[in-house]
Amino acid sequence: MKCFYHPQLDAVGTCAQCHKMACRHCIEDIGGSLLCMSCLSIRQHQAELEEQSIEQVAIQRTRNRIRWGSWIVGIFRDSFRRQKP
Ligand SMILES: [Zn+2]
Ligand SMILES: [Zn+2]
Repeated sequence: MKCFYHPQLDAVGTCAQCHKMACRHCIEDIGGSLLCMSCLSIRQHQAELEEQSIEQVAIQRTRNRIRWGSWIVGIFRDSFRRQKP
């Protein structure tokens, strides 16, 4: 069998994701399962997207914390002022 991406090269394995035959240039062992280059790039893209969404959640949480923090500080400031004659 020849590589799906290089018809002139012999395949060394089958992609665990799309089951295409691929040569040693086009396939990589990722955690014990072979993945071809196109599936690898898809997987990397998905990982990047997940990372971005995690980052956005973290930013949102920090913003919420700042909002709550200033709200609580405001309450304390008001009650402190009220106690003063
Ligand atoms: Zn694949
Ligand atoms: Zn190839």
